[in-house]
Amino acid sequence: MAHPKTERTLVIVKPDGVQRALVGEIMKRFENVGLKLVAIKMTTTSAEHVEKHYTLDPEWRRITGEKTISSYKEKGAAPPSEDPYEVTAVILENLKRYMVAGPIVPMIWEGAHAVKVVRKLVGSTEPLSSAPGTIRGDYVLDSYPMSDTDGRAIRNLIHASGSPSEAEAEIKHWFKPEEIVRYRRMQDAIVYSPELDDYLEQ
Ligand code: GDP
Ligand code: MG
Repeated sequence: MAHPKTERTLVIVKPDGVQRALVGEIMKRFENVGLKLVAIKMTTTSAEHVEKHYTLDPEWRRITGEKTISSYKEKGAAPPSEDPYEVTAVILENLKRYMVAGPIVPMIWEGAHAVKVVRKLVGSTEPLSSAPGTIRGDYVLDSYPMSDTDGRAIRNLIHASGSPSEAEAEIKHWFKPEEIVRYRRMQDAIVYSPELDDYLEQ
């Protein structure tokens, strides 16, 4: 089994995150927790590339549609359709418009349990219900009722991979292997080495 410290995850600062000048704040949280940045770029994307990103998992359309329909029902509201694929089609169109609206910053973070650690710091999908202390909870206040009323995607600043297998596919989708930098970082010895050196002066 690969050592947990080699896990990688994909994060994308979405157009609203760049416009609100939050790239540094967001990166700082991942640096603070001890993750290592191994790739980053500022770029723009296309509707085709965004659609491919969200549908890398062939089940994504069904799962997202079903999840959205049940969250409407939990709130006692009528879903826009009973067909998960129809619901997802609308979500995907909105996501494409959102993601192409301006520059974005894809990046790869590496370190122990990178996927889980990043998701914990990012918070839940809908900023209104993201816990305080998380990036979405602290920096944005969007909600599904508001984004649905306005016929747009929820503005939640960032994308972060949901599982290690999702991360692997997404990393390949956004970065060429030569864009990923392999390097040692001095502070990692403190976090990961089985024994700490003796730091006391004799
Ligand atoms: P994430 O991994 O936290 O971004 O969330 P998901 O992968 O579950 O969903 C991807 C995107 O689909 C989200 O960023 C939203 O734009 C959209 N989405 C997911 N669930 C819902 C929902 O219940 N309602 C609406 N309107 N959009 C949703
Ligand atoms: Mg996701």
